[in-house]
Amino acid sequence: MKLTKRNYYSKKADIEYMSYSQFKTFDECPAKAMAILKGKHKIEETEAMLVGSYIDAWLDGELRKFREQHPEIFNSRTGELKANFKLAEDLCGVIKKDEYLYSQLKGKRQVIITGNIAGVPFKGKIDSLTAENIVDGKVLKDCNDTWQNGEKKPFYKANGYDIQGAIYKTIYKQMTGKNLPFRLGVVTKEKYPDKRIFEFSDETIETALQEVIAKAPVYQSIKNGELEPWHCGVCDYCRSQRKLSEETIEIL
Ligand SMILES: [Zn+2]
Repeated sequence: MKLTKRNYYSKKADIEYMSYSQFKTFDECPAKAMAILKGKHKIEETEAMLVGSYIDAWLDGELRKFREQHPEIFNSRTGELKANFKLAEDLCGVIKKDEYLYSQLKGKRQVIITGNIAGVPFKGKIDSLTAENIVDGKVLKDCNDTWQNGEKKPFYKANGYDIQGAIYKTIYKQMTGKNLPFRLGVVTKEKYPDKRIFEFSDETIETALQEVIAKAPVYQSIKNGELEPWHCGVCDYCRSQRKLSEETIEIL
């Protein structure tokens, strides 16, 4: 199928193509990823996610439409923006004030790309494509290292942004022959918001790409029904599916 703005997030597109977020969900829990694909589990849209979408809509020049489609961002009693979206407004101001950051995020917006990695069809949507860079906008709590599974990780590893970079760089190059750097344009939700631009080195991208090459074909086999998805046992989906019996008693 040919991907368009309208069908990019459709079930059909998610079945036909793997995306960075689908890869990440498989990485977290294949059973959850399959349940989402089959419509048996929903990704909850949190207010934090909607803050990112608000800023994207502003950069896309579609804020009016976004506000109409999301009445929940307003306080129903006062009609004012809720606190999180007042913050989103402020962050738009922060971006606007920094000429360089603004120019990086104001390239060609929401460019759809497709390609193939290790035999697996992939799709991606570039937030901002400038003449020289692929730029993804991120709204983060902060840019500090975080603890994940007992390991201290840099923010980009904890969120898999290196994986996103590897996928986007690779399929963009397949489409155009151009090897563009992958950058993150970041604003933080700290009291005094930080602004940062990160560019991934070839080495970081190559390491992440090797991980995609190793894992994506396995996830694709699960999508094709050739391999049973395993349960991580700890995610929201696994908790929702847990059934207790004598066999599941945990001895301490
Ligand atoms: Zn799970």
